[in-house]
Amino acid sequence: MKKIILLLFISLYLAAPAFAEVKIAATLPWIGSIAGEIGKDRIAVTTLIKPNQDPHFAEAKPSMILAARKADILMYNGLDLEIGYLPRIIESSNNPKIQPGKRGNLDCSQFIEPIEKPSSVDRSMGDVHPLGNPHYHFSPKNILKVAEGMAVVFSEIDPGNAAFYRSNLQMFRDRLKKKQRLWSALPLKGKRYIAYHKLFEYLGREYGFHIQAYIEPKPGIPPSAGHIEELLELLKKTRIDAILATTTAGKKEAESLTQKTGVRSVVLPQDVGATETAKDWFGMMDEVLKALQ
Ligand SMILES: [Zn+2]
Repeated sequence: MKKIILLLFISLYLAAPAFAEVKIAATLPWIGSIAGEIGKDRIAVTTLIKPNQDPHFAEAKPSMILAARKADILMYNGLDLEIGYLPRIIESSNNPKIQPGKRGNLDCSQFIEPIEKPSSVDRSMGDVHPLGNPHYHFSPKNILKVAEGMAVVFSEIDPGNAAFYRSNLQMFRDRLKKKQRLWSALPLKGKRYIAYHKLFEYLGREYGFHIQAYIEPKPGIPPSAGHIEELLELLKKTRIDAILATTTAGKKEAESLTQKTGVRSVVLPQDVGATETAKDWFGMMDEVLKALQ
């Protein structure tokens, strides 16, 4: 009898790691989506910011602190995008695993190469991101690096499933390669757009299009009547292929510019889950790239 109980105990103990879920708190939906590609059913993801919430202006809420308290890994965009609330969430969580410098504190921007790092920053420049453009989630090149980084961290925190994470990463790589073949065949080279915020700069570099002007005169600052006049002038003089708004910002302004000039405007998902098609990161990219052509 004792032997049976001992065997039962050993088998339960051995079985346990395979069923243990790594608890992830991800600030942004796209981070949760990529984590899901690599961790699948071995992880449980809670997303702190909603798909149609502006991540620049979110606030720390008790539900976010609770999710951070339970997390094995806290994943965030970094490059100061969440600077207004994340330090408070981390501190209030009292969770030693996710404190800065710990393995469970994962700044996803560590894996990417930031663009547009200003050489100097002062307040007159608006709400400029001093560490560079933080909106790298529309960049296939950088997202692959983030996925690779996640696979390493998952394997360190949950070594029993390391082979599983590695094989999911390979599947992600293969799927991305196929998608990139389709995406790079879209006629985006040389296109010119007006955008609300600096969201599409990484994508523009990778696919050869250019953002000619911004509806926001400075990041985080809504347009004045004078600035709108300047945009109308530009739209009359220059060929602009489309005006880009997102589900979160610039819809009204883009529609009004379209009415006055006839240049089409498109409303793009700013993150995973913001539209029906943008169910996951691949869906979001499909929708954005197709709308740009
Ligand atoms: Zn921004």
